[in-house]
Amino acid sequence: MSGFAVLAAMAFLATRTEAQPGQVKLIVPGVWFREGDFDRFGHCNNVIIEMKDYLIVVDANFPSGAELTLQTVRRISPKPVKYVFDTHHHGDHLYGNPIWTQAGATTLAYVGVAEELKRYEPARWLAAVTERPDVAALHLAAPEPPVQTFDKSPFVLKDSTREVRFYFYGWAHTRGDGFVYLPSDKVLCTGDAVVNGPYNFTADANVGNWPKVIHQAQTLTTQFVLPGHGPSAGPEILEGQAKFMIELHKAVNTAVKQGKKLEDVVPPGTIKVHGDVVPATTTLTLPASVSNWVGPGLPSQVRDTWEEIVQKKPHGDIPH
Ligand SMILES: [Zn+2]
Repeated sequence: MSGFAVLAAMAFLATRTEAQPGQVKLIVPGVWFREGDFDRFGHCNNVIIEMKDYLIVVDANFPSGAELTLQTVRRISPKPVKYVFDTHHHGDHLYGNPIWTQAGATTLAYVGVAEELKRYEPARWLAAVTERPDVAALHLAAPEPPVQTFDKSPFVLKDSTREVRFYFYGWAHTRGDGFVYLPSDKVLCTGDAVVNGPYNFTADANVGNWPKVIHQAQTLTTQFVLPGHGPSAGPEILEGQAKFMIELHKAVNTAVKQGKKLEDVVPPGTIKVHGDVVPATTTLTLPASVSNWVGPGLPSQVRDTWEEIVQKKPHGDIPH
């Protein structure tokens, strides 16, 4: 256990340069963080929460990520997985649902996740089938929606050992963003509403509202923040991620007000990032204080934010 204790201490201090994909860390007794290998497999992070008689897993992952997390679960506890919480509708967080339901779990989400699936699917699923063998291997025509949904925040699961609260604070990364909070452990799982590194994806987002959602999550007392992508950290990544969105919005808004055109700030030319064709460059730069969140996704984040500001509606409400 001493090795685990050291890892738990390291998890608190980890930065993105200390990313350890595939590693499983004990955050507090009965809460494990499995860092997904995003660069190689597109996997999200998973969290395993131990209750008295069962386990809760945060995020279904892609099917291949679900299999890996299921192996981790079998290794660390004989208890069954009763619930798998889908933090949002994206494939890297939800397409593994059938793996978990076949293993006897109930998939759970805020109702907004099911509504996002109706909006965007099965088009994205069918595209994933052509690109990902693990999705194709399920031989399904559409993603499996969460079996159970809730519409009152927080939804609470509680037994004699632990209380787990599932919150919805509004539209940030998607219209369905769910947070998982363990009040006695001061642990907060954020999905992609908060990431630790250059992993932000803004296509389905409400960039202008995003910081407000994080500021609500910041009213919770947290010591450990377990993001959807990137290493575990402390509450400083809540502030950093909110600041990134504020700086992004500010930089784009300034350029719009200066009378610039989108082609001026996001010149033509594309590259492929994690299989997606995205604009290659942007002339906008953000302050060094948010550099942890700046990466090859910045040009597409600038474009999405530009469209949101110019069209005066959340980017997710613009056909895309
Ligand atoms: Zn996502």
